Amino acid sequence: MAEQYGERDLCQVTGLLNMMQFMRLASVHLQDPLAEPLTFLYFDIENFKSFNQRYGFQQGNRLLRYVADLLREIFEGDLVARLNDDHFAVATQSGNAGDCIQFIHERVRVYDMGLPMEVKAGIYHPPQGLTDVALIMDRAKIACNSIKNTYDLTWAEFDPAMEEEINFRSHIIRSFQEAMIEGYIEVYYQPEIRAMTREICGFEALARWRDPVHGMISPGVFVPVLEDAHLSPQLDLYIIERVCQDMVQIRHDIPDWELLRVSVNLSRADFRLMDMVQAVEDVRLRYDIARSLLNVEVTEGAQSDDEKFLQGEIARFRAAGYEVWMDDFGSGYSSLNMLKNVTVDILKIDMGFVQNLEDSERAPTILRRVVEMAHDLKMSVVVEGVETKAQIDFLSSIDCDKIQGYYFAKPMAREDFTALIEKEAGR
Ligand code: C2E
Ligand code: CA
Ligand code: CA
Repeated sequence: MAEQYGERDLCQVTGLLNMMQFMRLASVHLQDPLAEPLTFLYFDIENFKSFNQRYGFQQGNRLLRYVADLLREIFEGDLVARLNDDHFAVATQSGNAGDCIQFIHERVRVYDMGLPMEVKAGIYHPPQGLTDVALIMDRAKIACNSIKNTYDLTWAEFDPAMEEEINFRSHIIRSFQEAMIEGYIEVYYQPEIRAMTREICGFEALARWRDPVHGMISPGVFVPVLEDAHLSPQLDLYIIERVCQDMVQIRHDIPDWELLRVSVNLSRADFRLMDMVQAVEDVRLRYDIARSLLNVEVTEGAQSDDEKFLQGEIARFRAAGYEVWMDDFGSGYSSLNMLKNVTVDILKIDMGFVQNLEDSERAPTILRRVVEMAHDLKMSVVVEGVETKAQIDFLSSIDCDKIQGYYFAKPMAREDFTALIEKEAGR
């Protein structure tokens, strides 16, 4: 495939083909019915940005040339290009791309012992007749991105499921605004029960997305996508707004009913993107809802600078008059440590504990001690994911304050929620 190239066709830093020339030559090759089939590779130097920041631009360029020379050597006679930044492309006739990538990976890893570089690659074998090089490289890139931040994988082959995943994610992001406007995103309410009296003492608001194309989408699926796209504050504020609207409606319809608290979930990512305390205040004020009626649920995280910031924001929420609940307590890696530095009103124990209760000898002891410790630290405890009577009996016996779970009620749509309140109010 080798040809003579002019200066304009080459990357100035590495001397490799540039993207335009790569696309043109690969396309010519693919359109030749007699030519050998090609395998396309997309390379990414994962932590190149850190390298550049640490050593500067010149050294960054040196590393790029090092990688370029390796690629040229291993894929001699094939098309090799630098696409942009730290991304390279290869169109090869060789049948053992995986071994070649592994070799390059190992050589680049030892380039700088102080900051080991990780090269990752995606592989795509286009079917006969597919000649759209942009699409082909997209797929190689999708394969490469599928192993981002994984320590044990150096390369991945494209699989159509990866593309479906990407299409699904982009559907979520593109239709998010519409889903809010059209009301495809709804609030479901799950009751919380006071362990002592077995009375309903509040609700958790949980988002549901009823999509016209994909059907019901779980928040476990769409919340992480919105977080990645920096859209989670919009979702959370929308849910809070809906909760406030429902409260206003209930206040109007059942004036003698004393409203119960509703917990709303905030993504940790929200706090970096927006002043959430102010934003929640703004919504609340518009509907004239008391702060004591809205609890904020936040999950714990690893100890880091970000955590200090989050602790400050939690303190701000509490100072303003909101209860803050630590969600999924015990599922992360810093639970106990975190309690030294941050004060919350309620620990919400991760479902895993109660669901292992029957088959783990240790879980009851741990739960009992966590409840004791929380009480000593002036916090209450909610256990969620409670599904059996035996679990409830145990939780009551250890003085757990509140319980939430399918045993009492699943999260319910607005109509069922208001019907439940009407019943509670004796209507
Ligand atoms: P979470 O905050 O830990 O919510 C509890 C999840 O457990 C809910 O799942 C609930 O339906 C489920 N659950 C409740 N009782 C039981 C039980 O007895 N057994 C079992 N197996 N599950 C039970 P859901 O509604 O699918 O929500 C999943 C996660 O999505 C939530 O976990 C929360 O982290 C997130 N999420 C939901 N709504 C929102 C939202 O409006 N904003 C944000 N940022 N995240 C949300
Ligand atoms: Ca929650
Ligand atoms: Ca939880």
